[in-house]
Amino acid sequence: TAARLVVVGGGFGGASAARFARATYPDIQVTLVEPLTRFVTCPYGNLLLGGYRQIGDITHSYDGLRAQGVRILHDWAAAIDPAAKTVRLRGGETLAYDKLILSPGIALRYGALPGYDEAAAEVFPHAWVPGDGSQTRLLRRQLEAMPDGGVVGIAIPANPFRCPPGPYERISMIAAYLKRHKPRSKVLALDAKEAFSKQGLFQDGWKALYGPMVEWVPASSDGKVIRVDPAEKTFESEFGVRHKLAVGNVIPPQSAARIVIDSGLADQTGWAQVDPTTLASRVAPDIHIIGDANNAAPMPKSGFIANNTAKQAVASAVAALRGAAPPEAVYFNTCYSHVGEEYGISVVNIFRAGPNGFVEVPNSGGVSPRGDLPEQRRLEALYADAWYASITRDMFG
Ligand code: FAD
Repeated sequence: TAARLVVVGGGFGGASAARFARATYPDIQVTLVEPLTRFVTCPYGNLLLGGYRQIGDITHSYDGLRAQGVRILHDWAAAIDPAAKTVRLRGGETLAYDKLILSPGIALRYGALPGYDEAAAEVFPHAWVPGDGSQTRLLRRQLEAMPDGGVVGIAIPANPFRCPPGPYERISMIAAYLKRHKPRSKVLALDAKEAFSKQGLFQDGWKALYGPMVEWVPASSDGKVIRVDPAEKTFESEFGVRHKLAVGNVIPPQSAARIVIDSGLADQTGWAQVDPTTLASRVAPDIHIIGDANNAAPMPKSGFIANNTAKQAVASAVAALRGAAPPEAVYFNTCYSHVGEEYGISVVNIFRAGPNGFVEVPNSGGVSPRGDLPEQRRLEALYADAWYASITRDMFG
């Protein structure tokens, strides 16, 4: 009988894994478990906030994967039994697997930031998980409804979190909207950190495009938000300042998705430890944990890495089933960010498997050059569009 590969989570890691497995190993039976029937990507969600994309532009169906022969079950994985090698679904069915690819993404740690729970997210949207897009649309509607002259607060967490440059692209895209429609308003970005991804490039861009409309505050200058109050619409800082906001976006602290933690696959950090060559769980060798749910530092929690690790995990799982060695691991990452509609910047890195974990290949990466380079920025915004088109095609067909 055909080997059974079960994939849990149909986002950047899981959809990539399912499609790659079907295309590369036609003799393997692939089942994908994902509750969403339509997937709204986090990447390019910030462009929706800026007014440069509509929800339909970033919504994808599973029909392409189905046409490719992936069996798709729109359900939740409720429990995993690594010893019996089964996944029980919320709907009642139990799936047996030979190898499991687990890519359920992140959980938002409600309660870790006092005042921020699920109800508060209806006032201060996070817009940080794919879902049905309702969070991103809510944030967009709030921006449209706010008066000119208001403050948009963004609370940014400490490391590690999904998409290191994401909060800063969000600052940029919200500022781009405000500049066109509410020019007396500002973005107040309160950060629990001292430094961030592509910092120099972002700050150059903010200065050039938005001037005093963007204020970014590091932790040492009282940027750390320690409490939010949705009723009063305030963010309270570590040193006791209450910032009154017209709109608040909270990017809360995160962990691996619940199914990872509930199945005993995460350690005390809240993330899953994996082998850097095969992405196999350190505690359950037939479960490969990819995407944001694992601790793959220094690799970023990005869609690009989720897609790369998906292919390496599938190839390693199939090799193990055939009694062969896994392929040598090499992981690529490119993260594009939009500072303005026609102003793109990027960071590139290459990683390999080291003896004790993931390692960055020395001198393998870099960021866009700094300076007044409008043509370079215009081209990188186009490259970003091309990246989005190609990765979503690689996921969904
Ligand atoms: P996800 O893509 O979140 O997919 C997880 C899936 O698992 C979801 O569909 C969920 O419904 C499902 N799931 C969860 N639990 C279960 C369960 N129990 N049973 C079944 N299914 C389950 N990355 C880039 O590379 N480039 C970018 O430009 C970029 N921009 C971003 C912008 C923003 C605003 C944000 C928030 C993120 C951005 N990212 C970007 C990061 C990227 O979105 C994530 O790194 C990527 O989605 C991780 O893939 P994943 O498969 O781990 O999780």
